[in-house]
Amino acid sequence: MPGPERHDTNDTHDIVVVGASTGGVETLVNLVNGLPRDFPAAIFVVLHIPAQAPSALPQILSRHGPLRAHHAVDGEAIKPGRIYVAPPDHHVLVGRGFVRLSRGPRENLHRPAVDPLFRSAALAYGPRVIGVVLTGALDDGTAGLLTVKRRGGLAIVQNPEDAFFPDMPASALHYVAVDYVLPLKQLPAKLDQLARTPVKELAALPAPRDLQREVQSDELEAFVMENDEIPGTLSAFTCPECKGPLWELRDGELLRFRCRTGHAFTSETMLAGQAQAIEEAMWAALNTLEESAIISRRLAREARERNHLRVAERFDERERNARQRAQAIRQVLLNGDETLPTETPEIEETVEATAAAGSTLSKVDLGAANGRRKRSLSSPNKPASQQAEQESEQEQEQNGAGD
Ligand SMILES: [Zn+2]
Repeated sequence: MPGPERHDTNDTHDIVVVGASTGGVETLVNLVNGLPRDFPAAIFVVLHIPAQAPSALPQILSRHGPLRAHHAVDGEAIKPGRIYVAPPDHHVLVGRGFVRLSRGPRENLHRPAVDPLFRSAALAYGPRVIGVVLTGALDDGTAGLLTVKRRGGLAIVQNPEDAFFPDMPASALHYVAVDYVLPLKQLPAKLDQLARTPVKELAALPAPRDLQREVQSDELEAFVMENDEIPGTLSAFTCPECKGPLWELRDGELLRFRCRTGHAFTSETMLAGQAQAIEEAMWAALNTLEESAIISRRLAREARERNHLRVAERFDERERNARQRAQAIRQVLLNGDETLPTETPEIEETVEATAAAGSTLSKVDLGAANGRRKRSLSSPNKPASQQAEQESEQEQEQNGAGD
């Protein structure tokens, strides 16, 4: 992998950044399964995963394809044919020739998030980058893919109709002038072809100062921007994560927000973040009302003991009021608000990780457990014998999981 000094006509699209969310494990397995052993580019993968759970994604990807996958390590060199997976609770960022890990602010409610990876790769490698957005809810990856394009890189999106969850690819398609929209089964061959093709525009588009500021914000965990350094214009909204003011950024048609401490949102994830904030506020209100009812009851009892009956009745009334309001809030909390967008966590990954930590288990068709449509893990282009072999392997794994 060429270092910072090299940027010439021999350069190919040798930096591939991939983002996936719900439904991502099976999708990524199929993707790496179709790549050749001599794939000439480095691959960086962000899958939305819970921050606290262990992740077995690198083992799963290594097992199902010819390339070696591992959790990215801060400072390690970038090498072709390697798969660098974002570990739980860390953004993975691409520098010139090396990998950075960061526990910087969550973006689109996630860490790892897709946008910081794409943005950093675009800044470091410009036209050499291929950005790939796969299955997932909401729209992480859209802003990052826009940046990849702006710096002269290539944008590929999984055909939304082919994705377990179409939102992420559909959003990218809506906002970004993508180069290729492909079903999953055609992705590996296209990536291989592009990775061997020289880049057309060298040092194409200059990195805007805003992009540099944003990547700095992703990299540095304690990086706080002064007001006049924050890209965009001050908005009337507050950050759902830290309650600080938000700045509005316009990326073409895409409206984004970022706070001083670096939390970043698209408008879609803003709504999801607000839904979370509303729920937290309602639980807090519920608790306060319950406490108010308990105190009112105690005061009513004490007033009765002192024969202050009128006072006792007033406290009875207060208790009734508090309980009625608490009941109303509880109803809303239990029924949920279906008008707001939500994101399903990548359950497959959690199940896998838990099981892998436990021992024998493995992957395969956990999608069924999540009530989503199944898809074979086998490559459709595989010879029948190989297919059968893989199915038998899957069967063993499933049996193993039952032990
Ligand atoms: Zn914030």
